[in-house]
Amino acid sequence: MRTAIGVDLGGSHVTAGVIGEDGSIHAQHELDLEDLTFSVVVEALVSVIGKALGSNGKAVAIGIGSPGNIEANSGVVLYSPNFGWENAPLGPSLSKRFSVPVFVGNDARCATLGEYTFGTGVGTSNFVLLTLGTGIGGGIVADGDLILGNRFGAGEIGHHQVRPTDGFVCTCGKIGCFEAQASGTGLIRHAFAVASSFPRSKLLDMARDDLGSKKIRKAAQAGDLHALTAWKNYASDLALGLANVIAFVNPQRIALGGGVSSAGAFMLDAVRARVDELTTMVPKGTTELVIAKLGNDAGQVGAATMAFRRGLTTLQ
Ligand SMILES: [Zn+2]
Repeated sequence: MRTAIGVDLGGSHVTAGVIGEDGSIHAQHELDLEDLTFSVVVEALVSVIGKALGSNGKAVAIGIGSPGNIEANSGVVLYSPNFGWENAPLGPSLSKRFSVPVFVGNDARCATLGEYTFGTGVGTSNFVLLTLGTGIGGGIVADGDLILGNRFGAGEIGHHQVRPTDGFVCTCGKIGCFEAQASGTGLIRHAFAVASSFPRSKLLDMARDDLGSKKIRKAAQAGDLHALTAWKNYASDLALGLANVIAFVNPQRIALGGGVSSAGAFMLDAVRARVDELTTMVPKGTTELVIAKLGNDAGQVGAATMAFRRGLTTLQ
């Protein structure tokens, strides 16, 4: 079977997998990133990709999912706030170092392509992936094609505002973005926002930095009133955003991934009724909500899929 190298470039580490054409993962290599200077990251990528290639010399191409707004044809990172890069020639710099073609795409779009091709997107042609982690990443497949937009910005679903007047401040500077309200970080913020109403809450015995979204969700499932209130407010904002996505795209399926989605049915049950209520002009029940299947591997598998396809979309 043909293989490609699929790379998931994150803010703290980079993973390179040897991925088969059927989405199977044959080997994985990981490296921690401490310095996000462009030249340092390029060398880290060269090293980890070299190891992956070494474990399977037959890889036909390399695909890299990177945070930021990325020019799809050239692989230039136009800007990436996470890395502090502007017009960083990621694709060209790596192409010089390897004998096989290198493709670069936005990490969330790559994850969407992976989940669409090998996960919960199978059998659909209109599909949305939302990863609820530190932020909210996403991607839209419409009529079988991943949408990149006029300037590669389509799919930035995390930065549509659901609470523009009374929401939390987003990392992008706006108030009440979907990401600020409904990511894993959003759940933690909801817990602090209602904390004064629960002076005897056990959650507050924890140091602020130890209070993760998983602890809040588990406490909510165990019936803790403080956690349950935060969870309900969180689910209400998540439902708002999901109904907006349905109004814009009416996908056959929306898959929820990322850390918070490990809540599974507890999460889906918390939002389904409200999403239905907020779905007005789109026929109700025509968008299915599911938990994503590929988990943390979606980025690598999708980046390799991009490499096999020689780009994120069939139109490039
Ligand atoms: Zn934002």
